Amino acid sequence: MLSAPHPHDEQQRQNALDELDLLDTPAEHYLDTLVRLTREMFQGHSVLISLIDRNRQWFKARIGLDIDQTERDISFCGHAVAARSMLVIEDAQLDPRFADNPVVTGPPYIRFYAGQPLHSSNGQPIGTLCMLHPIPRTLSHTERLRLRDLGTLAEGYMQLRSVSQRAQKLRGDVDREQRRALLDPLTQLWNRAGLNQFYPREQASAARSGQRLGVIFCDLDHFKQVNDRHGHAGGDQVLWQSARRMAAALRPDDLLVRLGGEEFVAVVTVNDAHELHLIAERIRQEIAATPMDLGESRHALTASFGTALLEPGESQNGVLERADRALYQAKQQGRNRVIHNSDFA
Ligand code: GH3
Ligand code: MG
Ligand code: MG
Repeated sequence: MLSAPHPHDEQQRQNALDELDLLDTPAEHYLDTLVRLTREMFQGHSVLISLIDRNRQWFKARIGLDIDQTERDISFCGHAVAARSMLVIEDAQLDPRFADNPVVTGPPYIRFYAGQPLHSSNGQPIGTLCMLHPIPRTLSHTERLRLRDLGTLAEGYMQLRSVSQRAQKLRGDVDREQRRALLDPLTQLWNRAGLNQFYPREQASAARSGQRLGVIFCDLDHFKQVNDRHGHAGGDQVLWQSARRMAAALRPDDLLVRLGGEEFVAVVTVNDAHELHLIAERIRQEIAATPMDLGESRHALTASFGTALLEPGESQNGVLERADRALYQAKQQGRNRVIHNSDFA
């Protein structure tokens, strides 16, 4: 196996990647949409946006693959980045650089690979938009152009995002090391510590804009049945897809957290309880609309929701507990519904 080589200007490349401040950040709806669309267009098994970090590749967006990073040495994308051009491997078993690579001889058993390098605004290759498939295949000239175009959209989004984030200093003040401890690797949402870290900022921002802070507490219904029927890996897959659907129903800047297990919390700025209800209802519908895709099978899933508006002088725990009590009511009343705290208090 040939380890992914380092470019001659590796330090500048790494600086450009660090500057974008993308590593160890939560999944983002636009990029999730882009990898999903790419997978549909090419009928590939997995599509990733892989960022090539010092000694790992870390996936900013992924569909069809359950891990969030691998070593850089064994990455195909590291080769595409070093080559600074699209890399297409039609059959990895026939390519001496990859034939004995552990991701070829073992899971996810890559045979076909196509990766389009993505660049920072100063032209450094920071990662790839890539597609993996467990069966050998080819990529036509037209398909190559399409993959390149999709890569242009991905890199454009990442570059613009970096500019707008620098301008707004969105959720800054935590460095990468801290951020890593605040991310849930399974769903790539913030975790409970992330909620505690960012809640005060959400509260202050709602107060500044003269609006209210709303909390949406969500618990997937009968989730144990998902594990029973489809195994723990199937359960994890459903957690991943549920997180994507929740994010799709929220605004990009809303704080979305996996509290633990199959419980999620969204913290949103709203005008009133009606608006809060509409947002929770949108998430509920997004989850229930179509069954979760588990490859060979599907699983129809619903979720229950409790909402509460922060009262003046109330603590974070206070409002979360009220939303949790509303969620309990939603479960009691038959699940797959949204209950607002003041509806029963
Ligand atoms: P209800 O509608 O009342 O919420 O029922 P439920 O089955 O969703 O709730 P319950 O709390 O009984 O079960 C939650 C299950 O979630 C139990 C646990 O094994 C599973 N679970 C928790 N964390 C994970 C995880 O990270 N992955 C998987 N696959 N399962 C998990
Ligand atoms: Mg639960
Ligand atoms: Mg549950």
